[in-house]
Amino acid sequence: MPRTGIMASESGEDIKEDISPMSDSAKEDTLDRLSKDFDDLSEHAQQLLTEKLFLENEFAQLKKRANRLDEELRNIKTPPLVVGYIQDIIDEQAIVRSSNGTVFLVSVNRRLDISEMKPGTRVALNQDTLSVVEALSDSWDPLVSSAEIIESPTIDYESIGGLDEQIREIREAVELPFEKPEAFIELGIEPPKGVLLTGPPGTGKTMLAKAVANSTKATFLGLVGAELAQKYIGEGGRMVRELFDLAKQKAPSIIFIDELDSIGSKRLDTATSGDREVQRTLMQLLSEMDGFETLDDVKIIAATNRPELLDAALLRPGRFDRIIDIPLPDVDARETIFGVHTKSMPIDKKVGLRYLSNISEGFSGAEIKSSVVEAGINAISDGRKKVSKSDFTDAIKKVENKRKDSANSSAEGLYR
Ligand code: ATP
Repeated sequence: MPRTGIMASESGEDIKEDISPMSDSAKEDTLDRLSKDFDDLSEHAQQLLTEKLFLENEFAQLKKRANRLDEELRNIKTPPLVVGYIQDIIDEQAIVRSSNGTVFLVSVNRRLDISEMKPGTRVALNQDTLSVVEALSDSWDPLVSSAEIIESPTIDYESIGGLDEQIREIREAVELPFEKPEAFIELGIEPPKGVLLTGPPGTGKTMLAKAVANSTKATFLGLVGAELAQKYIGEGGRMVRELFDLAKQKAPSIIFIDELDSIGSKRLDTATSGDREVQRTLMQLLSEMDGFETLDDVKIIAATNRPELLDAALLRPGRFDRIIDIPLPDVDARETIFGVHTKSMPIDKKVGLRYLSNISEGFSGAEIKSSVVEAGINAISDGRKKVSKSDFTDAIKKVENKRKDSANSSAEGLYR
């Protein structure tokens, strides 16, 4: 409601002004409106404040994420470091061999403790200057660590047929020194460090080594010789060193090297660089064998089908000084091996093990095993629950033919 009043102007005329007092209800209305506005505004302010806090929080998180991504980007952009090995330390500098085999004299980052840098320590090298940037923890080469068969092998002497004499010899050479080291000391004799098993393929050499490991509860480290024949200079030697280190750490242990001839062949004068690397691996093997005490709880068993190819240095006393020949099984041994593999097989009464042994002249243990498996398959495919004589004769013929085929198609078969 307008307020009105009378004012005198310069010209003396009266001007009417709206100065009428507000009514109470109007005042109340205005007050209500104002307090409502005030409430609305303070609610809005509260909302904005919450929103501000929320945005600040989000901003902090995004900043963190951006930093992380930045860091990741930096890592991706950083050039790779070269892996090498310390060969020697001279004053404050190191002689390192990078993984491609070249040797350099380089500086060592001051941050690193130089006393921890021993010959053989694995280090990371700057790509450009090859200076030592980081000392890497020692780890086993994957090939070496996978050589360890964690569960001790389950094969026992009973499951090996016809090798009684060989079992006795290997037990004397490996088990006895593990069990009675003091007896050897008393008598002043040194037990053999290594045993070499020679003989045609499939005659049970690996089985024998596993059975010894099982009966002595030793860790079994098994490798095939060809795995140690590496392409890069020094790699094979390093693996041999690591293999022996691991064996000592896990002692009592048995290192089994199958196909030893692939690294232990005679050294020739006219060798390619690949041959020379294999020879270096052999030298490392010899020096490892010379380096440990005979009564250390580590024994080496090696196997080869081609003993005539082996370097004479391997057969010297103090290395593989016991050679156990494992021939193809004779008629009695074949009978025992058939017995081992048919132990839990339901067989027709008419089948005599002696008969099977007679008709499998020249078979190795592995071939006897595959004949038994074949005979079982014949019976299963005919829907029978028992294996008959003809299953066996057919299976033996099949294995024999397979052998003839492979002998014709390959230059192998030295023993056949
Ligand atoms: P390679 O020289 O080819 O390595 P190997 O002589 O080491 O052969 P193993 O691997 O020990 O032969 O034998 C192969 C398989 O043949 C064994 O798993 C086993 O089933 C069977 N076998 C070999 N010889 C015998 C044996 N004397 N008694 C029982 N089974 C045998």
